[in-house]
Amino acid sequence: MASIAEKIESLRNVLHEHNHRYYILDRPTVTDYEFDLLLKELQVLEQDYPEYNDPNSPTQRVGGGVTKSFETIAHRFPMYSLSNTYSKEELEQWEERIKKVLGTETEINYSCELKFDGVSVSLTYENGALIQALTRGDGTQGDAITTNVKTINTIPLKLKGDYPPFFEIRGEIILPWEGFNKMNEERAAKGEPLYMNPRNTASGSLKLQDSSLVAKRPLNCFLYALAGDQLPVNSQFEALEKARAWGFKVPESAKLVTSIDAVFEFIQYWDQQRKSLPYEIDGIVVKVNRFDQQQELGFTAKAPRWAMAYKYQAEQVATTLKGVQYQVGRTGAVTPVAQLDPVVISGTTVKRASLHNADQIEKLDLRLGDRVFVEKGGEIIPKITGVDLANRGIVQDKVNFISNCPECGSFLEREDGEAQHYCKNETECPPQKIGKIQHFIGRKAMDIEGLGGETVALLYQEGLLNTVADLYRLEKEQILPLERMADKSVSNMIEGIERSKEKPFSKVLFGLGIRFVGETVAKKLTKQFRSIQALKEATLEELIETDDIGERIAESLVAFFANPKNQLLITQLEAYGLQLHEVESNQEKHPAIEGKRFVVSGVFESYSREELKKEIESLGGIIVSSISSKTNYLIAGNGMGPSKKTKAENLNIPILSETAYEALKN
Ligand code: AMP
Ligand code: ZN
Repeated sequence: MASIAEKIESLRNVLHEHNHRYYILDRPTVTDYEFDLLLKELQVLEQDYPEYNDPNSPTQRVGGGVTKSFETIAHRFPMYSLSNTYSKEELEQWEERIKKVLGTETEINYSCELKFDGVSVSLTYENGALIQALTRGDGTQGDAITTNVKTINTIPLKLKGDYPPFFEIRGEIILPWEGFNKMNEERAAKGEPLYMNPRNTASGSLKLQDSSLVAKRPLNCFLYALAGDQLPVNSQFEALEKARAWGFKVPESAKLVTSIDAVFEFIQYWDQQRKSLPYEIDGIVVKVNRFDQQQELGFTAKAPRWAMAYKYQAEQVATTLKGVQYQVGRTGAVTPVAQLDPVVISGTTVKRASLHNADQIEKLDLRLGDRVFVEKGGEIIPKITGVDLANRGIVQDKVNFISNCPECGSFLEREDGEAQHYCKNETECPPQKIGKIQHFIGRKAMDIEGLGGETVALLYQEGLLNTVADLYRLEKEQILPLERMADKSVSNMIEGIERSKEKPFSKVLFGLGIRFVGETVAKKLTKQFRSIQALKEATLEELIETDDIGERIAESLVAFFANPKNQLLITQLEAYGLQLHEVESNQEKHPAIEGKRFVVSGVFESYSREELKKEIESLGGIIVSSISSKTNYLIAGNGMGPSKKTKAENLNIPILSETAYEALKN
C-alpha cells in the first residue's frame, strides 16, 4: 500500500496536470466535479498530515494566506520598460539604427507579440517550483506578491519537462473583459462606483491583503520573456516555445517574421483583430529574435535597444457637445456627464462621456455646441480629450458647474482638497436614498435574497420604500400589482427580508452605510461597543480611543447618530427585530451541543456552511476543521469528500445528516 506521503504526492501531481489541461491547454479530461473531489481529498490529507506541507500544493489556489505588507525585493535581472512609438516612420528608423550596429546586410528576424495591457510580473522558479513573484516596481526592485500570485490558475506552481534548475520568467497579469464586466455588474447592482479599466483592477487585486479574495478575481497571466544566466535557448521565439512546454500560458498570437514589412502586416492585422480579443492590448511588441544580436545591441538606461513597442492610437472622434447632465451617486458625489451627438468609436455608438468633475470642465473651457474630441481608451466610459478650437461654440454658452443638486435642489459643497462636489442632503436626496437601500441589501451587508438593486429603485418610485426600515413593512399585496412581479419571486423577496433579521449586528451596522464605516470598521465597532445603544452614546473621544478608529470615522459616527432621522430609523429597525447588539454567546448554549467538537463538511439545504458553523458556535459547540478521535460529530452535507466519511467511520464518530443535526438541537 502506498504511504501517505506517496498518496499526497501523487494527488498533487494529478491535480497539477489537470490544472494544466484545463487552464493552459483548454482541454480538460475530467469534469469539474471530479476535479473538486480530488482537490477535497488532498485538502483533507493535508489537514490531517501537516508535516507534508507544500507551499506549492494545488490547494494553494484557493488562497487563504494574508500579506500584511508587501516586502520590497531587488530584481536579480532588472525589469526594463520598452521604447515605444505610434508611427511606421519611427519603426523604420529603429530598424535603420539596429542595422547600423548589426551590419546592413545582416538578416534580422523579429518576434512580433501582443502588448498585453495589465501588470507586469517576474516569477522565479527553483527546481521547477514557483518560489517568488515580484511586481515591476521601479525596475530594479519590486514588491513580493507571491501568495496572491499563487491563486492565479494560469500560473503553474510546478513545471514540467526540461526546465533549468533556476530561472526567472516575465509576463503580464491581466483581467479579461468577461471577468471585468462581471465584477462591474456586481458593483452596479450594489450601487457602488464602477471599476475604471481592467488594468487598474488587476493591479489593485494583486495588492489585496487576503489572498482568498484574490482567488475570486478572474485573473490570467501571459508569459513573454525568460531571464537567467544560462538559458537553454538562443532566441526569443525559442524561449516562448520552451516556456509553453514547461507549462506556461504563452498565447499563440506571437509570430516570427523575417522583415519589417511583415512586422507592419502583423500590426495592421491586430489593429482590427484586437477589438474582438477577450482581453485588452495596447499595442504590439517587436523584438529582435536572436539573443546574440540582442546582446550586441544592448540597453539604454531604461529600455532594450532590441525591442520596440508599437502602440495603437486610441481612436479619437470629433462630435458636438449638446449638453451636460449631472449624476448624483449614493454618497452624494456629483459627476458631470457630457451629452454628445452620437458617434461610432471602435465599433460602438457613444452618446455620453464622463467629465469627472468641475476642474475638468474648467480645464477644457467647455461651451455648449463645441466640437469636442472623444476618445475610448481602456476606460469603459469614453472621455473628452479636447476641444476643436477652430469650431468653438458661442462664448456665452460656457458650461458652468451647477451650484445646486439636480435631484433635490440643495446647495452643493466641495471640501478642501477634494475634486468632487457633494450633495450633503443625505436623508432626503432621492438617488442617495435609493443608493442607501441598495447598499443595505447588498451581498456584503444584509445580503437579502430575492431583492435586487432595480427592484429597490422601482419600490422607491412607487412610494413603497423610503428608508431601509420600510423593507420590513413591505407586504406581498402591495408589490404584486407592480409590473413584472410574479407571485413566487415576491414571496422569495419577503422571505429574504424576513431572514435578514437574523444577520449579525456588524452586517447591520455596515449596511447603514455610515460614511467611512466599511466592513472591517463595522466589525471593530460591534466588537468593542457591543450594542447600537452604546455606540450611539459614545463620545467623540471614546470613539477615537478605540483601536483603529480615527478622527474621521469618529466624527462621521457622531454626526450620524446626532441626526434625528437616523435616530428614528434605528428605533424602527430595533422594533422590527434586527440584530442591533452582539449576541452574547454564553446566553443561549445548548446542552447537546455545548463543549462538543464538530466537523462540518459538504453543502446544506437550509444553511450555508458558514451559517451552520456560526450557529453551532453560538450554541456553544466547537468547530474543528479535521476529524480526530476527539471529534464528537461529523455533520455531513451533500458532496462531502469520501475520505472524511471513511475516517469518521474508522474512529466510530457519529455522522449526522442535516436533519439529524436539527433533531439533536430540538
Ligand atoms: P510600457 O509600460 O509602455 O513602458 O511598456 C512596457 C511594458 O509592456 C512591460 O513592462 C510589460 O509589462 C508590458 N508588456 C506587455 N506585453 C509584452 C510583451 N509581449 N513583451 C514585453 N513586454 C510586454
Ligand atoms: Zn441632492
